[in-house]
Amino acid sequence: MQHARLEPQFAATRRPDIRESVSTRVRVDSRCEASALPAEERAARLRNPGFGKVFADFMVTSRYVSGSGWGDLVVEPWGPLSFPPSLSALHYGQAIFEGLKAFTQDTGSISVFRPAAHARRFMASAERMCMPPLPVEDFVQAVDALVRHNFDWLPKGSGESFYVRPLMFGSDQELGVRPSSEYCFVAFGSPVGNYFGAQRPLTVWVVEDGARAFPGGTGAVKCAGNYAGTLLEQSRANGCDQVVWLDGVERKYVEELSGMNIFFVFGSGSRPKLVTPALTDTLLPGVTRDSLLQLGSSFGWEIEERAVSVDEWRTGVRDGTITEAFACGTAAVLTPIGRARTKTDEWGFQSPQIGPATRALYDKFTDIQRGRAPDHFAWLRRIA
Ligand SMILES: *Cc1c(COP(=O)(O)O)cnc(C)c1O
Repeated sequence: MQHARLEPQFAATRRPDIRESVSTRVRVDSRCEASALPAEERAARLRNPGFGKVFADFMVTSRYVSGSGWGDLVVEPWGPLSFPPSLSALHYGQAIFEGLKAFTQDTGSISVFRPAAHARRFMASAERMCMPPLPVEDFVQAVDALVRHNFDWLPKGSGESFYVRPLMFGSDQELGVRPSSEYCFVAFGSPVGNYFGAQRPLTVWVVEDGARAFPGGTGAVKCAGNYAGTLLEQSRANGCDQVVWLDGVERKYVEELSGMNIFFVFGSGSRPKLVTPALTDTLLPGVTRDSLLQLGSSFGWEIEERAVSVDEWRTGVRDGTITEAFACGTAAVLTPIGRARTKTDEWGFQSPQIGPATRALYDKFTDIQRGRAPDHFAWLRRIA
């Protein structure tokens, strides 16, 4: 398991008495006993959960204090965190997050999808934002504890899942501009419904002037500010569903959507080619992206990670060399992209259907998550 490098700030404060790791100690707050929602109320909320609107009874927290390190992981009732307006994260943006899913399988057992991969990315995000990385084992333990304690909140319907949202923010309460000396880690859960298929293919707006990320910036990590920076263009997307960002230097190459990676399918038949922009420091390394590359490869498809220009996309769709396009991420899984628009141009596929390659990837991917197909890649962590 690859461990991220410690920022000098944290490396320098390393002392034997500091708990770099929570060392998997999980404590259950005594308030938990009385705080679970009655079963009927829970069932009502689980009926049509939507996305990120319904929250499970318990969350898991841990506090970091400079000089003493991480405290225990604590299971506590879901509810507000109380901080004064001088909370440093609100001003200077030391705030990162993750998003991953747990699934009820047909057998009734529960699995979390690639928690260690999310944990490693959480560490990388922390390092970039000069925050103390939470060790992989502790992140994974926190997710385990969250899922276990919210067992009754895991939806069982097809396409439904339990979305896990871990986050960390600087919790100093002074205005000096410097890395916070205290941090708060929280993981909470939200039962979510199915997106795929319910949605027609997306129409996307290609942002030709703005940029989501720039070389040397924070585009490759999951920090809160990256999202804030995309909202203005998203709000002006000229009637499109989503925006697509281009590289911030040449404004020529396709990078990703605001919260999803992008794929193109070249050719058709039994051996299509999957093409996705190569990872750079301006691209978020999606766990879904990585998983689909592995899956495509296992199908015997050709895989290319390389730059794709807007011109190539437009021309390819028009001359038929590009046969499908889709966006992917944990929340929406795979979502077909039907049309693209710029200020001067528009192109897209005739058919409103989900293409066969997109469909094949979606089916295998979700079958593995649900335990209906063998987990050859060891992506699932079973929760006892
Ligand atoms: C989270 C995220 C993705 C998708 O990553 P997954 O690990 O597949 O969920 C893509 N782009 C951005 C900007 C993101 O924040």
